[in-house]
Amino acid sequence: MDLKKFVAIVPDWPKEGIKFKDITPLMADGEAYKYATDQIVTYARERKVDLIVGPEARGFIIGCPVAYSLGVGFAPVRKEGKLPRETIKVDYGLEYGKDVLTIHKDAIKPGQRVLIVDDLLATGGTIEATIKLVEELGGVVAGIAFLIELTYLEGRSKLENYDIKAILNY
Ligand code: 5GP
Repeated sequence: MDLKKFVAIVPDWPKEGIKFKDITPLMADGEAYKYATDQIVTYARERKVDLIVGPEARGFIIGCPVAYSLGVGFAPVRKEGKLPRETIKVDYGLEYGKDVLTIHKDAIKPGQRVLIVDDLLATGGTIEATIKLVEELGGVVAGIAFLIELTYLEGRSKLENYDIKAILNY
């Protein structure tokens, strides 16, 4: 299936010069959403993962159906102040802006094989921060999966020691 036809490219959003990849048409199409999810499920099986971790908010959209399909858990990574119990945090820089990501301290059992999932790899800052959170809790990053990789931003260079799967490349 040609999934690219379900990704809307929005020029100059949220800032001038950015060509935003909008995945909501893909999510709105049941067949396309399932097809994309199934590819990540297959990858997760190969990597023998015990837990899915995804950053808000689109990491939930991609990661939760994968967790459900595998029958494994999902742990959310969120912006500061959103998780109600004890957390650890990390500062990070994005393609546009700066922020803090957090995860519940008890979200991962030491040694668990974690698949990190997000909709899109741009500069790699979000995923680099997510890796730090997972590893600080003793999780093993067994793989990282994206719906979309913006290869021209070379985010992969920040993730050299990890196994990466991207469904679509731009
Ligand atoms: P990075 O940290 O790799 O620079 O940026 C990736 C993060 O920003 C992801 O969590 C992703 O959701 C968001 N993001 C950046 N650019 C885009 C885009 O063009 N489309 C979508 N859907 N998300 C983006």
